[in-house]
Amino acid sequence: MEERERAVVRTVPTGLYVDGAWREAADGGRFDVEDPATGEVIASVADATVDDARQAVDAAVAHQEAWAHSAPRERAEILRRAFEAVMAAQDDLALLMTLEMGKPVAESRGEVAYAAEFLRWFSEEAVRVHGDFYVSPDATTRVLTTRQPVGPSYLITPWNFPLAMGTRKIAPALAAGCTVIVKPAEQTPLCTLALASIFERVGLPPGVLNVVTTSHPGPISDAIIGHPGLRKLSFTGSTEVGSLLMRKASSGLLRLSMELGGNAPLIVFEDADLDKAVAGAVFAKMRNGGEACTSANRILVHESLADTFSERLATALASLKVARGTEPDASVGPLIDADALAKVSGLVEDAVAAGASLVTGGERRGDRGYFFSPTVLRDVPPTARVFREEIFGPVAPVYRFDDDDEAIRLANDTTYGLVGYIFTESLSRAVRTIEALETGMVGVNQGLVSNAAAPFGGVKRSGFGREGGFEGIHEYLNVKYAALNLS
Ligand code: NAD
Repeated sequence: MEERERAVVRTVPTGLYVDGAWREAADGGRFDVEDPATGEVIASVADATVDDARQAVDAAVAHQEAWAHSAPRERAEILRRAFEAVMAAQDDLALLMTLEMGKPVAESRGEVAYAAEFLRWFSEEAVRVHGDFYVSPDATTRVLTTRQPVGPSYLITPWNFPLAMGTRKIAPALAAGCTVIVKPAEQTPLCTLALASIFERVGLPPGVLNVVTTSHPGPISDAIIGHPGLRKLSFTGSTEVGSLLMRKASSGLLRLSMELGGNAPLIVFEDADLDKAVAGAVFAKMRNGGEACTSANRILVHESLADTFSERLATALASLKVARGTEPDASVGPLIDADALAKVSGLVEDAVAAGASLVTGGERRGDRGYFFSPTVLRDVPPTARVFREEIFGPVAPVYRFDDDDEAIRLANDTTYGLVGYIFTESLSRAVRTIEALETGMVGVNQGLVSNAAAPFGGVKRSGFGREGGFEGIHEYLNVKYAALNLS
């Protein structure tokens, strides 16, 4: 690590943040955080015990009532100050993110700004939580509805967007009046710890936000989910772990939000603007090095364009610079770890064995860190594993289709349903396809849907619940209704 990198890491508190205090784990345990570009240990953080985890929920429970009764404007202003502070620290947070997660610094700066947007958006939403008042159809009753915070919420985040997946949950929860326990992924705890210290600095009362870092998420989560004071679990991560946690949360009947895996189709129709389609596919595939739930996982191209499209996509991907994310012109960083590298290589080998042709890439880069070359596979048969499984790496498989019905059938032939992308110049074809896709989101002539002001979320095995938009705060609110008899 260079001196500036060391200096940024040193600014981050590495203890547990419980009830407004930073402290070591009860047994003094710690675990290491690695730079995936080099394998070097960059920090160690507290490794919570089950008792620490329970105490974090105790703190959230103890402060719930006061936080729920705080003025919405006060909550809004704390979130607004946190937004300003995150943006003021954009460069340092971006470097920290690159060091623990690997993405190029320019992308990390983009994620910091995206993460901050949730703080700003929900600072604005905090003061717009409304109820209703109306006459029942038989006129015997007045119906009064109001919204109240769900209560202490457990927020589990993945490593791929270390800051934004946190703020996308923390901001609406705090805005709604819920206290929280946050558990970042073990690969990337530093951004969440840095965010907690920002919240502390901008005046968030003690115990409202608690952070538990751990290298053994199973037992720690069991203790938190089993705590009788917990009311909600919001999870972003893989479908397998999401479904396991749903089962565990069933005994306490917790409110749930599940943001799970994806297998996004990107459809290039015969009337697409090819420039837009290639640029959109590069973005939808290569954002975050392909390590995004929204990544274009299956690129479906009309027969008439498939050859030209594959060549142009390969030229674009081959020109991207693969390097440690701190290098100024890096476009693609390393994968997160050795398992990810093995999985991505295995999917490429399987596709080639099934009959796909490799147009570019296809192999590991260097022998230090976990770099993989941007890869284009063409004429991939839908029987290949890569058609069904989330790739989570810089691999673009291109499939062919003959007509719209076949494109939609292939697009929906997956258990996932997070996002789809479509490229067409026809409004009626676009609307028909938006309606036919079994996904929670659709990008039309663009390869990006993430936006703090829009409801992000999936259907099928991509989960349920929405983050961002007008909907996001409602994940943390219960509706209460009173029947008023005026006779
Ligand atoms: P993961 O499911 O392995 O881990 C996610 C989180 O769950 C981490 O914090 C991890 O520590 C925790 N965890 C793991 N096992 C656990 C257990 N037994 N009990 C409790 N917690 C446990 O996923 P990942 O590899 O970190 O992230 C990648 C996955 O996340 C991909 O499938 C991706 O599609 C998905 N994702 C979804 C969205 C979305 O919004 N839908 C966004 C980003 C990532």
